[in-house]
Amino acid sequence: APNTRHFTCTFYSDVDRRNLLTEQDMENRMHGALERGEFVAYFQPKQRLSDGAIGGAEALVRWIDPVRGLVPPDDFVPFFERNGFIINVDLCVFEQVCKLLKSWLDQGKEPVPISVNMSRAHLREHDFLAPYEEIRERYGVPAALIEFELTETLVFGDPETFMGVIDSMHARGYRCSLDDFGSGYSSLNVLKDVDIDTMKLDRAFFSAGDATGQREWDVVESVVALAKKLDLDTVAEGVEVSGQAVRLRGMDCDMLQGYVFSRPVPVAEFEKMLFGE
Ligand code: C2E
Ligand code: CA
Ligand code: CA
Ligand code: CA
Repeated sequence: APNTRHFTCTFYSDVDRRNLLTEQDMENRMHGALERGEFVAYFQPKQRLSDGAIGGAEALVRWIDPVRGLVPPDDFVPFFERNGFIINVDLCVFEQVCKLLKSWLDQGKEPVPISVNMSRAHLREHDFLAPYEEIRERYGVPAALIEFELTETLVFGDPETFMGVIDSMHARGYRCSLDDFGSGYSSLNVLKDVDIDTMKLDRAFFSAGDATGQREWDVVESVVALAKKLDLDTVAEGVEVSGQAVRLRGMDCDMLQGYVFSRPVPVAEFEKMLFGE
């Protein structure tokens, strides 16, 4: 429901209302915010379950607003997906990722792959990868270090388009992951045609924490086994308790991304986790 925010707004307390960005606010400020560098990539490490090391990270955008402070993506990404501005934000995040990878390569540090979210708005463009390629080539970083995350709804909503999208990503050397798997109307059948590299199990699988029941674990175990059979890497998202990590390790899940290991952190903090001081 596109405009519920205006409506629900009136019920917030004064404090909350001050922090809320109305759609008009966002529309007025988005271009300036982009120019001033207010869209900042945070990084949430992915932990390899085999040895506990950091095997990669996901870049997640925050709007650092001078007045409101840190605004989480759920407050502005949906609106920017509707007005198309998300394209600029995604490219801005992508550029921060390329810049980071280049600085590691220049310093002789061992890079880890970074994933970025790609909104469906890009796919309306004829050559949607061209602006990405322009940026990547400018920084001279290998595409193999970058993975695009595409959401399940996008993939299963239009599998035909999606197959073409994946092919063009692979042709340029990028990896591709299926985000939020299991959150909506997944069609297992489509998995046979869609040549993704990684499956991210939606955090809904793990939201019960320690109370996760045997039935849920059976489903997770089967999904991980299916992904393995299809030769996909698996990432379990939204894992919050250590007991879940132990069980996932037991079922051969490759990586974990969740608060139990780390929240999304600013770039300097992420580099400290990765390389020490
Ligand atoms: P997502 O792509 O599914 O990203 C994972 C979200 O789960 C992140 O929320 C992350 O902070 C959260 N998360 C990770 N571990 C845990 C956990 O253990 N427990 C819980 N409860 N949550 C966990 P975040 O950063 O608020 O991002 C929300 C959504 O906004 C993302 O969901 C993605 O759909 C969108 N988004 C974020 N950055 C971008 C971007 O640069 N471009 C686009 N197009 N969308 C973005
Ligand atoms: Ca994602
Ligand atoms: Ca996700
Ligand atoms: Ca593979």
